[in-house]
Amino acid sequence: MKCPYCKQNDSRVIDSRSADDGATIRRRRECTSCGRRFTTYEVVEKQPLMVVKNDGRREVFKRDKILNGIIRACDKRDISLEDITNLANEIERDIRNTMEQEVSTADIGRLVMSKLKSFDEVAYIRFASVYRKFADISSFMEELRELQAHKEQKKDKL
Ligand SMILES: [Zn+2]
Repeated sequence: MKCPYCKQNDSRVIDSRSADDGATIRRRRECTSCGRRFTTYEVVEKQPLMVVKNDGRREVFKRDKILNGIIRACDKRDISLEDITNLANEIERDIRNTMEQEVSTADIGRLVMSKLKSFDEVAYIRFASVYRKFADISSFMEELRELQAHKEQKKDKL
């Protein structure tokens, strides 16, 4: 994206949010050369985003799959559908902002897990156990321990 001031080509994205119902992305950019900031409105190309599954098959990305996964993980938790939907939207936006045309289910899973971690602990553990299918139980236990340690730390600070 060309800087409107010094015409240099390289800029850093400071903030991006979707406008116009997701059809446009508004980006705050900072020129890496002169440091001035400017805003760009980029039309989201309706290019299909493909998901590469573990067995190598591809399918069109569907936000509902993420949404349903999170809803399942949040079952009987005190979390509104609105919060869940917002989280799913945020995850979709992050994925689309990478501007990759293909994304693997593993990457999506990792992203969902990292978001859920700060969203709801129980939902995170449920999602993680389904997602990892207990294939690597040791790293899952490791993660649980870390989470526990993190909680203790937080408690200490209170
Ligand atoms: Zn500049």
